[in-house]
Amino acid sequence: MRRFTGAMTALFFALLCLLPAVALAAPVPQILGFKQKVMKETDGTPYLHCEIGLSAAPQYTVKGGGLLHPKRLLIDLTETSLGDLDSEIGLKGKKFAQQLESVEAGAHTYLTFTTVSPVEDGSYRVTIAEGKDKSQLKLKAPVILMVDIFDGPYKPVDRVNGVKDRVIILDPGHGGLDTGAIGPDGLMEKDVTLAVSLKLRDILVASGASVTMTREDDRDVFPGGAQTDGQELQARVDVGAAVPDADIFVSVHCDAFTSPKANGTGTFYYPKTWQDAALAQALQDGMVARGGRRDRGIKEARFYVVRYSDMPAALVELAFITNYIEQAMLADDEFQRNLALGIAEGMSDFFAARR
Ligand SMILES: [Zn+2]
Repeated sequence: MRRFTGAMTALFFALLCLLPAVALAAPVPQILGFKQKVMKETDGTPYLHCEIGLSAAPQYTVKGGGLLHPKRLLIDLTETSLGDLDSEIGLKGKKFAQQLESVEAGAHTYLTFTTVSPVEDGSYRVTIAEGKDKSQLKLKAPVILMVDIFDGPYKPVDRVNGVKDRVIILDPGHGGLDTGAIGPDGLMEKDVTLAVSLKLRDILVASGASVTMTREDDRDVFPGGAQTDGQELQARVDVGAAVPDADIFVSVHCDAFTSPKANGTGTFYYPKTWQDAALAQALQDGMVARGGRRDRGIKEARFYVVRYSDMPAALVELAFITNYIEQAMLADDEFQRNLALGIAEGMSDFFAARR
């Protein structure tokens, strides 16, 4: 009897130990289906959206890029069954990824996307959504693994408040035959002013403003190239004058000086209305806040485009292209983005104060 009790006790504890293991063993996730569609971000950026339907949530790791396989995005699903997913699937859109290969090996299923652009930070997104109706493509599965592939790193465009429905004229300084000032390492002002203006345009358009640019590429604004500076500058003023209800005119430049020590951010205006100085100050504050360079303040000047534009106008000098440090900053994508955001925020403040 005692021996029997001992055996029963041992059996009882053995069962007790086994029970939680049995109860906790999750079902093996199985792939149930695949759908794909080329979609667009709210700012219009296209991407390939892929959905892999699963019976349960898998453990997974994502590996992408690197020197050996720069155009490979690998998703390693642990303890997952491939189901009847095709081993090779051609992908839509052509410019995002070519194909998806799937293979089950041991306890793993490997999904390999062959991308068109190198895989790097921001060029893809992998997320998992649990629950019915999470699919954006009407894929029926309790769990959806979503893989989004862009044609390069995707950086969402910044937005600002208070510029919706405003009409803004942007004038990237110089262009074409006129390089503007040239930095010690050869950086040309006309390239910086265009790069910052295009980024500024994207922010403003994403924020609901209407934007007209005097130029969107590297060229003279006066058709065929002007004979005089006056002709070229009047051509820029004319672009703004032709836009009905234009609220403001902003010309983008880099400063330059004979001494390489000169540095900082400044803004010029011509006081033809009481609003010109207010606009200049708002843009100046925005640029200094985001760009972090020395505040040279706002100054009156008889620059042609700010003087002869009918609407409130300002000419911003982002930083000194003739200064080694600021030249390097002006060539930097992130600094350009910050300055563009600062100018957009300045416009937002200007419109808010005028309301
Ligand atoms: Zn200039």
